[in-house]
Amino acid sequence: MDTATNIERALLTHLRAGGTAETSPLLRRVLRNNQILLHNYRVEAIKDCACALEGCDRSFPVILIPNQVLYPKYCKAHRSEFRREHHQSLREKAAPAA
Ligand SMILES: [Zn+2]
Repeated sequence: MDTATNIERALLTHLRAGGTAETSPLLRRVLRNNQILLHNYRVEAIKDCACALEGCDRSFPVILIPNQVLYPKYCKAHRSEFRREHHQSLREKAAPAA
């Protein structure tokens, strides 16, 4: 898990320097599938997060791990890009623009 740790370290460096998804390609790339949850838990804790996909009302448990800030931002059903695009096109078919 050294790779994840290095990415997190790089992310935090970007964030502390005032970087945002607009200014940092690394942040932009990582934030496509993940969210950053800054926390001070010293033991693992479970937090319920709402799926970030528009139209999905599901919430899912995220296990907060000490010293880890990067967590999934979509529910299990929408964790892959393919599933999310499929979800969008299904929605468009179900509710065509008036
Ligand atoms: Zn979802």
